[in-house]
Amino acid sequence: MKVIFTDVLVIGGGLAGLRMGIGAKRRGHEVIVLSLVPPKRSHSAAAQGGMQASLANVIKGQGDSEDVHFEDTVRGSDWGADQEVARMFVNTAPKAARELAAWGLPWSRVTPGDRQVIINSQKVTITEREEARGLIAQRDFGGTKKWRTCYVADGTGHAMLYTASDRAICEGVEVHERAEAIALIHDGKRCYGAVVRDLITGELRAYLAKATAIATGGAGKLYRVTTNAVICEGIGHAIALETGIAGLGNMEAVQFHPTGIVPLGILVTEGCRGDGGLLRDVDGHRFMPDYEPEKKELASRDVVSRRMEEHIRKGKGVKSRFGEHLWLDITLLGRHHIEHNLREVKEICESFLGIDPAEKWIPVRPAQHYTMGGVRTNHTGESPHLKGLFAAGEAACWDMHGFNRLGGNSVAETVVAGMIVGEFIADFCDKPENTVAMPMGLVEEFVEREEAKLQALLNSKGSENAFKLNVEMQEIMIRSVGIFRNGDALKEGVEHLQKLLERSRNIGLTSKAPGVNPELVAAYRTQKMLKLALTVAYGALQRTESRGAHFREDYPHRDDQQWLKRTLSFWRDENATLPELQYETLDVMKMELPPGWRGYGAKDYIDHPDTAKRLGEIEEIKKRMESKDRFAVQEALMPFRDKLPGELRGLNERIDEPLNG
Ligand SMILES: Cc1cc2nc3c(=O)[nH]c(=O)nc-3n(C[C@H](O)[C@H](O)[C@H](O)COP(=O)(O)OP(=O)(O)OC[C@H]3O[C@@H](n4cnc5c(N)ncnc54)[C@H](O)[C@@H]3O)c2cc1C
Repeated sequence: MKVIFTDVLVIGGGLAGLRMGIGAKRRGHEVIVLSLVPPKRSHSAAAQGGMQASLANVIKGQGDSEDVHFEDTVRGSDWGADQEVARMFVNTAPKAARELAAWGLPWSRVTPGDRQVIINSQKVTITEREEARGLIAQRDFGGTKKWRTCYVADGTGHAMLYTASDRAICEGVEVHERAEAIALIHDGKRCYGAVVRDLITGELRAYLAKATAIATGGAGKLYRVTTNAVICEGIGHAIALETGIAGLGNMEAVQFHPTGIVPLGILVTEGCRGDGGLLRDVDGHRFMPDYEPEKKELASRDVVSRRMEEHIRKGKGVKSRFGEHLWLDITLLGRHHIEHNLREVKEICESFLGIDPAEKWIPVRPAQHYTMGGVRTNHTGESPHLKGLFAAGEAACWDMHGFNRLGGNSVAETVVAGMIVGEFIADFCDKPENTVAMPMGLVEEFVEREEAKLQALLNSKGSENAFKLNVEMQEIMIRSVGIFRNGDALKEGVEHLQKLLERSRNIGLTSKAPGVNPELVAAYRTQKMLKLALTVAYGALQRTESRGAHFREDYPHRDDQQWLKRTLSFWRDENATLPELQYETLDVMKMELPPGWRGYGAKDYIDHPDTAKRLGEIEEIKKRMESKDRFAVQEALMPFRDKLPGELRGLNERIDEPLNG
């Protein structure tokens, strides 16, 4: 048995994993980052549109602050978010954007003077301030009151990931690529590391660490049509679930992005609509203002995606041999803008659709995009169920997105959570009581168990084909657990997935190669993915309300009275075919922003009994503190600063809010 020791094992080399690794390494701990692919090819590279941070540099961002970003994020989440975590996030996002700039990230920058932009389909001239010259530029995005999204043309994730990866190399963070964590090693109370499979030789190794962090990204491949890459299969989620101890939070909350290109589902960024692009139907009619007069194309993603599907159901879709779609029109932005700010969109349209988006409309339809659910953590990023296990990024439920994440808040979360959780991991490793003797007998047991499972698959004479089961699962997820959900379809979906899980225990392989063997990989991953799919589908079946991206046609209201709670899924018994669900209540009396109307979407929620009382309390606090500044008022409403690592508690500077002014 090959054993590798380190202080911190980070599973995942995307933005979140790298930033956590850098943080722990800077504090003097040995770090190993594992990745399926070279870190620079992690899925973070695909992020196009940008990162939210309330810098208030551009004129349309004037007046922005942590307060506005916080409100947008909580409304976006449909009140599913942990508001303290959302506060920690918005306070740290400007620091993270500036840190990346200091590391050499080539953010697009402000040029002072007049410039023409498209707002609500009209050409408008805006004037950028001289004081903003050379500062980080920001664009409009969905569900935000201000232009807050920092960007690098439409290759933001690529630039961020290359910067973070180069920084990790600089700091001496060790990376082991083509290595897949297939099980966590634990004794039911504490996590000791992971069993890792070398994807080239097939060898199993034990990585043992004081702290283990999951940063394995999303699970888009549970669905047939997704904007996610092939490596986004949710294996990090699954190995946490398979401990039987660590819980996953809100797995039923799955985001669909309005503009996946048809038929492939490849994303064209929200930046297209942020910069002024319009959605049109079969008649060329711009339909979003009919549904959402206020935010139009820039309501939050869950709302726009539903409106698009609703419009198609009304017979307004464009028929094609790949099914129906709608149009995204960015021709009005002009060739110069597209070739400078939406270059990747242009390339995607040319390469995959054979069209020039400066001339022709883009065929789009909502596609699975983001996994709000993940390994449940507390505000330090540690699992409340399994000591020594941490998580950050899309694989985590920290939980700042609740039931719908805002565009631009995800890459922001990766680097912000990376900064914060990296510090808490370092604190954890600093504590002498966390330096534990590794239980080598247990480690051996875990490695042997995984070895036996793989060997059983290789020897199996089973009749099931892993690839076929996987496709069947993806079809069910789209059909039964998609944008519109209802009890009957969900029940049928759950039952079908249960049967698939049982069938997956009888997978047979034609190739017996122990090393590079796509069949073997598909076999063990499909078994894990089916469990994960069941957490999504079963969670959705049980949640008899609509919140954010989870929409039940049979329960169309957001029901704060019954459902202001986070779902926790556990897989206690290896032979089970359903997860065990528990619920974590969100306390209205501790909220800075009690539940209300989001400002877009339906206005038909069922109130929580405490909401009126808390609103009264808030009004009183605000009245009492009329003479105080916004920071003191916020502190009185919901203190959060002491939850942040010391060096991240400071205020953020803006043109209109100089720190020494
Ligand atoms: C097309 C597209 C565009 C997007 N645009 C934006 C945007 O403009 N703004 C925004 O905020 N968000 C955007 N997002 C979302 C955002 O990009 C992701 O949520 C975020 O980058 C995820 O980062 P991460 O570090 O959590 O995971 P990832 O970057 O996905 O990294 C996961 C890492 O885990 C590794 N890994 C996975 N499983 C294992 C395992 N079992 N063992 C070892 N390693 C493993 C992988 O190799 C990889 O290194 C976009 C998403 C997509 C799909």
